[in-house]
Amino acid sequence: MRVESAEGIAFDIDVPVAVIGAGAAGLVAALAAHEAGAEVLVIERDPVPRGSTALSAGLVPAPGTRWQREAGLEDSPELFSADIMAKAKNEPDPALVARLAGSVGPALEWLSHRHGLPFSVITDFRYPGHSANRMHGLPSRSGEELVDRLARAVEAAGIPILCDATVDTIYTEGDAIRGLGLVRPDGSRERVACRALVLACNGYGGNKALVAQHVPELAGALYFGHEGNQGDALLWGEALGAATRHLSGHQGHGSVAHPHGILITWATVTEGGFQVNAEGRRFSNESKGYSEQAAEVLRQPDGLAVTVFDERIAGIARQFEDFRRAESAGAIVAADTIAELATRLHMPEAALAGTLDEVEALKREGRRDEFGRSFAGVPALEPPYRAVRVTGALFHTQGGLVVDRDARVLTQSGAPIPNLFAAGGAACGVSGTGPGGYLSGNGLLAAVALGRIAGQAAGAMAMA
Ligand SMILES: Cc1cc2nc3c(=O)[nH]c(=O)nc-3n(C[C@H](O)[C@H](O)[C@H](O)COP(=O)(O)OP(=O)(O)OC[C@H]3O[C@@H](n4cnc5c(N)ncnc54)[C@H](O)[C@@H]3O)c2cc1C
Repeated sequence: MRVESAEGIAFDIDVPVAVIGAGAAGLVAALAAHEAGAEVLVIERDPVPRGSTALSAGLVPAPGTRWQREAGLEDSPELFSADIMAKAKNEPDPALVARLAGSVGPALEWLSHRHGLPFSVITDFRYPGHSANRMHGLPSRSGEELVDRLARAVEAAGIPILCDATVDTIYTEGDAIRGLGLVRPDGSRERVACRALVLACNGYGGNKALVAQHVPELAGALYFGHEGNQGDALLWGEALGAATRHLSGHQGHGSVAHPHGILITWATVTEGGFQVNAEGRRFSNESKGYSEQAAEVLRQPDGLAVTVFDERIAGIARQFEDFRRAESAGAIVAADTIAELATRLHMPEAALAGTLDEVEALKREGRRDEFGRSFAGVPALEPPYRAVRVTGALFHTQGGLVVDRDARVLTQSGAPIPNLFAAGGAACGVSGTGPGGYLSGNGLLAAVALGRIAGQAAGAMAMA
């Protein structure tokens, strides 16, 4: 990834706003910049827009939405901000947190009424760390539907998406961005001049060297995000003198079906399930969060664990297409008794039965276990039982380029690079420095809320 002077460069086309990356951040930014009156070009390295967005459950946290009001749920941006700050031990920039928490609800409502995305709020379970039910998703609860619907909205608005085009060069003129260079699969090159540039090409989860440097505890872990996210925004930003922050921050996940590689909803745990290792024994406080749980699972023999739950919980989990896919693929083990479950999992029966007894006693007595987990308020597991073998994975990085309230990329001195914006995983998010700082939904929060802010600001700048 290069940054070069634009002096003497002949550009093939000139656009007011260029957006690198066609995931949620880039597509939302494109819609917002277009609405601000600017012509926009989105550039995407893949043949079709997918990104990590397509791999996600597509759930976006938002407070105070009309869907929450209709469901009688009380919530506010202040409560959401407090949850984000508490999860990340007050490490994130409070001004950015407040900005995102205050703008994500209006962004979802805009995507709904303006672009026809039929969001609804999830009311039957709550992710750890959220003090209100505020996860919003599309009917299939899949990120594929989110990126497909966004791409269709972008196309309906007449905004071109140039696919099969990898940006590898940014051209500068003085302190400002002048344009970019891209390469096609056949090796041919094109140069695009722009008045404003939005970096929406996510973080560095797909770049093994950058992961080893910044997130060494997950250096060898399965990367479950989009391979195309090679840290290009970070590398360009560093070359441009941009400030970076929280580069060790990331989202892991301790619940990826093995060997099927399918995400299993964490509701399997929060609703009263638990994780055991190959010996049938629990090893951690699973309720701390699925992100922290990645490293916990990877520390177990072969880097594997089994999540034990029941048919009631499977019923909740079936609202997720991924879970239904996991069932079709045979990843979910079913058994009428705990003895049968142990046999099917090749696990010592006495140990597994003992662990289940302990968990059910904890639920009845309202006690915390030796790891600090409280099972208070969750129902007992009832036969028939369900289980799934899982591993821990890196989903995406949370550190990145430091931006101001208008998503402008800041230099190390704190001054903005005049016409450069970052959104989604390209920008430093609100999860702090460790895996524990990731509050469910922080990823798409930064993509949707910051994407809209970046697009509005880039569009306004290009039209000024
Ligand atoms: C399995 C999984 C589940 C998740 N579930 C959730 C969830 O339910 N809720 C939530 O909030 N978050 C979730 N996340 C995180 C969420 O997916 C990301 O935070 C979010 O999608 C980031 O959006 P983005 O637009 O920044 O990046 P992406 O969607 O990854 O898009 C970036 C795009 O940029 C393109 N690109 C990269 N470099 C270049 C280049 N040089 N030139 C051209 N194009 C380039 C890529 O090909 C990609 O299409 C999950 C992540 C994973 C992996």
